[in-house]
Amino acid sequence: MGVLWEPELDQVGASWLATARTLAAEKFAPLAAELDRDQRYPWENVAAFVESGLTGIFVPTEYGGAGLSMQAVCAITEEVSRACAATGAILAAYELGAVPLLLAGTDEQRRLVLGDLLRGRAVSFALSETGAGSDAAAITTTALPDGDGFRLRGEKIYIGNGGAAQHYVVFAKTDPDAGARGITAFLIDKDTPGAVIDRYEDKMGIRGTRTSNLKLDARVPADAILGERGRGLRLALRTLDLGRISVAAQGLGIAAAAYQLATAEAARRSRFGRPLLEHQGIGFRLADLATELTAARLLTYQAARTYDDGASVSTIGAMAKLYTSEVAHRAVDLAVQVYGGEGYCKPCPAERLYRDQRVLEIYEGTSEIQRIVIARAIGADQAEPVR
Ligand SMILES: Cc1cc2nc3c(=O)[nH]c(=O)nc-3n(C[C@H](O)[C@H](O)[C@H](O)COP(=O)(O)OP(=O)(O)OC[C@H]3O[C@@H](n4cnc5c(N)ncnc54)[C@H](O)[C@@H]3O)c2cc1C
Repeated sequence: MGVLWEPELDQVGASWLATARTLAAEKFAPLAAELDRDQRYPWENVAAFVESGLTGIFVPTEYGGAGLSMQAVCAITEEVSRACAATGAILAAYELGAVPLLLAGTDEQRRLVLGDLLRGRAVSFALSETGAGSDAAAITTTALPDGDGFRLRGEKIYIGNGGAAQHYVVFAKTDPDAGARGITAFLIDKDTPGAVIDRYEDKMGIRGTRTSNLKLDARVPADAILGERGRGLRLALRTLDLGRISVAAQGLGIAAAAYQLATAEAARRSRFGRPLLEHQGIGFRLADLATELTAARLLTYQAARTYDDGASVSTIGAMAKLYTSEVAHRAVDLAVQVYGGEGYCKPCPAERLYRDQRVLEIYEGTSEIQRIVIARAIGADQAEPVR
């Protein structure tokens, strides 16, 4: 056993992880620097996902996927993110888009969208707007009755896989006066007249991913509703509960890559007559990182196991995302520090990881929002009668 704790998967999960490991080493890692430099969406990695079946790791077998446990999905997401953070983020965004279908879709909606996803035509999650990220209930996109359907008006931003996806799960206000209870989810095809993508973000990190807007002035039929009318915010939040475990897994991958770079370089780079690793100032920081990374893994895989057992992951998922993304922050910082000036300059991989990591503390709920979720759970606990 190495210094870091490793999860143990069942035989099916382990075999899928071996497939992911081969692709990560042979295809994803060699492309990572180029995707970052050119800000290019890796269609060849999407093709590799499709060919290997990795697009469907979380899709139930009855819809043609592998139906893996969340623990196995985490291990695969970690492995892919370790090789190329952008490719890991693309895989995690597939899941974020598909979960609302799994939670609330009709059989027909699931067959259409999950079938497309398995062929590499993804579904994206479109909740955020200019004035509504952390405060999701403040969205202003509306979906008002129009004949026997609805007219969607508004603009979504920061959509992961935006422009590369075939379908969008769009959250809009069907009853604008009803606040959080007036939000409904809709399933929109990218070719819907009046649905326009005309902006892609120029990002600090995970530059191989696409992040777009979606402008809407579009008529959609009544059966475009996903789940129950007025229950859209609840659906979005339930989706994010699970998505946060996948963000934690991305964080584990980035942190593990940084740890590997930092330890190898600290063993190789000699200063003042001995390797940096043997200078206590660096050795102790690496020891702390190994401990934190192991703790982050134990927490994330426990969150995944909790989901696999059918229990709520709202609090433990928030804890896993919060802790792991902040461990990843410290990991990339240490990797840059160990490399010294080289770590601050391209093409040092630590420089790229330093930028790739930062979004983990922002998307699918910032670190502040995770702390709010956990603090609320503490409050609810305190309100329980003393046993
Ligand atoms: C690369 C990328 C991909 C993304 N992908 C998607 C996607 O696929 N789908 C999607 O819908 N969205 C996506 N997002 C949006 C993302 O989820 C939001 O950016 C995030 O939730 C933060 O919202 P905001 O940007 O509006 O920041 P704000 O909500 O304006 O927050 C700004 C700051 O204020 C803090 N803050 C806010 N409220 C409080 C409070 N009550 N107490 C303390 N601090 C607070 C925040 O923590 C943050 O630090 C993506 C974003 C990025 C950058």
